[in-house]
Amino acid sequence: MNSSPHITIIGTGPAGLGAADKCLELQLQYSILESKTQAFGHCKSFALKSLPEVYFDEGPHISFTKKELVQEVFKKSAGEPHLLQPKMMNFWKGLKISHPPQSHLYQVPQIHHASLQKDICDRPPLSTVNYYDWLVSQFGQTFTDLFPEVYTKKYWTVSATQMTTDWIGERIHRPTEKDMLSTLAGPQDAAQGHYFTHFRYPKAGGFESFLKKSLQKSQESLKLKCEVRAIHTRQKQIQLSDSTTNNFEFIVSSMPLNRISRVLDEVPQEIALASQKLCVTSVTLYSFVFRSDQSNETHWMYVYDPEIPFARLYFPKALVQDHQARLQAVQVEVYSSPYRSREKSHDDYASVVRGLEKMQLLREKDIVDSDTRQISHANVLFDHHREPARSEVLKYLESKNIFSVGRFGDWAYLWSDESYLQGQQAVEKIVQKFKMTKK
Ligand SMILES: Cc1cc2nc3c(=O)[nH]c(=O)nc-3n(C[C@H](O)[C@H](O)[C@H](O)COP(=O)(O)OP(=O)(O)OC[C@H]3O[C@@H](n4cnc5c(N)ncnc54)[C@H](O)[C@@H]3O)c2cc1C
Repeated sequence: MNSSPHITIIGTGPAGLGAADKCLELQLQYSILESKTQAFGHCKSFALKSLPEVYFDEGPHISFTKKELVQEVFKKSAGEPHLLQPKMMNFWKGLKISHPPQSHLYQVPQIHHASLQKDICDRPPLSTVNYYDWLVSQFGQTFTDLFPEVYTKKYWTVSATQMTTDWIGERIHRPTEKDMLSTLAGPQDAAQGHYFTHFRYPKAGGFESFLKKSLQKSQESLKLKCEVRAIHTRQKQIQLSDSTTNNFEFIVSSMPLNRISRVLDEVPQEIALASQKLCVTSVTLYSFVFRSDQSNETHWMYVYDPEIPFARLYFPKALVQDHQARLQAVQVEVYSSPYRSREKSHDDYASVVRGLEKMQLLREKDIVDSDTRQISHANVLFDHHREPARSEVLKYLESKNIFSVGRFGDWAYLWSDESYLQGQQAVEKIVQKFKMTKK
């Protein structure tokens, strides 16, 4: 009888690689299956031909982890990274407003000041019923309607009333009433504002460089281009896209929770129904290289105006401290979801370029290279169905020895470090469960 379990890992994003690193550390037998030709999941990076030394990520990816273990893994892989202070900006009704807007209200046109002030003073008691009520109780009605509600519709594709509040944590800066009122008068202490003050980014190769070493260490156990198509829980077999079948003992899966239930056989109806309730946003990423004689120090920008299709954009060269002009790079994100389907008239190259021109960031004639890619799973949507549905599916999977981890495995708002650590914790849990069943 084997004295340690064999673990099958699905996915080579941070969660899968975290699990693989833990298996190596504990000297367990494991294999990793990845459906794509390239590893790293959402943390993969790519370059365009006209600017091969500058890497784009799948949306702006930076590491602000406080977990020393992850900092160490990333550093061992990519070397000493850049340590940078975030430089962010908001584009709102044609104006550039410093981030976060609730700490820079003096930059909002005077016409809004009286109602901003009144509503900040008249805020209702703290509410956690939905994200909209929470916003009003934090910032007042006027600020909520001018800023976060408009941005929520672009980024999350829904009104804040359709969202819960359990994802917020430290993500949104909450100045006191006194601080908010004082920012109406003029600039305040520059230190106040964002939920992290520094972040790390690899000096070369894009965000995926943080995970390259983990992948290298598992090269022998890895199968790329190998999609898990079916999981037979009773026979304990996995069917793969290369027509082979693998036996499994335990699975650590970073497959999206709404997909894994579709590949399982004999799923009870209530689990199938719960998984159908899980909702996710998708994103189209448009990346450009363009001629420019201006350098850019801003790292990323939030874009509020509804007539501009993208919600956010970032400048990859600024992340590697490359301030040389001539060729500049930018990537923008256009979101859709089952709540707001992808509109061809909105989410297309021409509309995106018009938006960038409107912001005076580039002119179409200066574009030398571009790339468009669609990401089906971008953010878990924290609508009111999420928590009960997710818990039900996760509990069922664990009863079948499938430990579902990572941003879409756990169906949570996880960053790369949290996904990596969840992969590790799943392996530890499996070892515990294995010991219990062998007693
Ligand atoms: C726009 C955007 C910006 C972000 N910014 C940041 C940031 O600044 N900092 C940060 O820390 N995090 C950021 N994140 C979050 C980060 O990308 C995720 O936390 C992380 O990638 C999740 O890792 P994962 O391993 O759980 O999942 P993934 O990265 O999604 O990896 C899952 C892997 O499983 C594979 N897979 C799926 N199904 C199958 C199957 N059936 N068979 C085989 N393989 C399969 C996929 O191909 C994929 O490689 C951002 C995410 C997005 C979308």
